Amino acid sequence: MSENRTEISDLGEFGLIDRLNEKVVIKNPSSLKGIGDDAAVIDAGDHVKVVSTDLLMEGVHFDLSYAPLPHLGFKAVAVNVSDIAAMNAIPKQITVSIGLSNRFSLEAVEALYEGIYAACDHYGVDLVGGDTTSSRSGLAISITAIGEAKKEQISYRSGAKENDILCVTGDLGGALVGLQILEREKQVFLANPDMKPDLEKYTVVTGRQLRPDARMDIVHELAELEVVPTSMMDISDGLASEIFHICKASGVGATIYEDKLPIDKQTFDTAVELNLDPITCVLNGGEDYELLFTIDQKDFAKLEKHPDVHFIGHVTKAEDGKLLVTKSGTGVQIKAQGWVHF
Ligand code: ADP
Ligand code: MG
Repeated sequence: MSENRTEISDLGEFGLIDRLNEKVVIKNPSSLKGIGDDAAVIDAGDHVKVVSTDLLMEGVHFDLSYAPLPHLGFKAVAVNVSDIAAMNAIPKQITVSIGLSNRFSLEAVEALYEGIYAACDHYGVDLVGGDTTSSRSGLAISITAIGEAKKEQISYRSGAKENDILCVTGDLGGALVGLQILEREKQVFLANPDMKPDLEKYTVVTGRQLRPDARMDIVHELAELEVVPTSMMDISDGLASEIFHICKASGVGATIYEDKLPIDKQTFDTAVELNLDPITCVLNGGEDYELLFTIDQKDFAKLEKHPDVHFIGHVTKAEDGKLLVTKSGTGVQIKAQGWVHF
């Protein structure tokens, strides 16, 4: 240890991970992909296994004053399945580790697991292990997901090529707007516990925040259409941040068009009500768990009519940078303001 002290907040989450990764030397030829993608890829003979893990901490990733425990259990599984989907692979097993404070009763743990079991059924995965410990700082949930794919079906972040088409699934910004509503209603409730939270108008956006669904449907449809994305990742930190990751890993640039960005009507209206710019919510809102991927132009016709895949732009040369073409036709540099917890 040197005498110097560097704050983690100066490095940021990605700076820290890069720093840790510098000293990693891969020893086993079966470790096909280590740190740096949505999941690691491991050679298993006639196929590959993909492995991803996530840690959710009370007070950082969720607030039990508005996150119902069954939803939280479902979400903890879904965010891991989303990372398996992001590799174009099929999830098969999960392990679940929990740190419990003494505030938790058996009934509360069972409510959490109700959501975990529901997600296991929904995604067709088996719960095969985990760990249980006590915690002095609230609830912690760590889930590891294991998936499978044929080697040639894996989509890395690093495969995007110039002229590929940039695609996103579903719509974006809802989870962030939902979080703002839940926070607002919590403050109203804290100020006046007799006030009933007014959430009925906002069920789409609050649902996006509390119980996201990983896009396994898209992974299955891509397989049926025989499309292997040239690159893919899930949108957990915000579209802008994920575009930066794909561009960095692939050594390319990207141009996207404001009028092509998908936003749900309730997300748009609620953003405006909250005095948030809807496009900023789409670009920088986290936790939507949609997929961002690139396809070769030859595959465009196969996906063109898909109701839930949106073509938002194309891949350019690295020196062209990352551009957003606004509705008025001006190109502006995209800033990657991800969802940073530090
Ligand atoms: P995602 O948002 O898709 O879950 P992250 O941004 O958390 O991915 O992680 C990016 C990469 O860094 C992944 O390959 C992940 O496994 C790796 N990673 C994250 N934290 C650590 C850590 N503490 N030690 C080693 N690898 C890590
Ligand atoms: Mg991911």
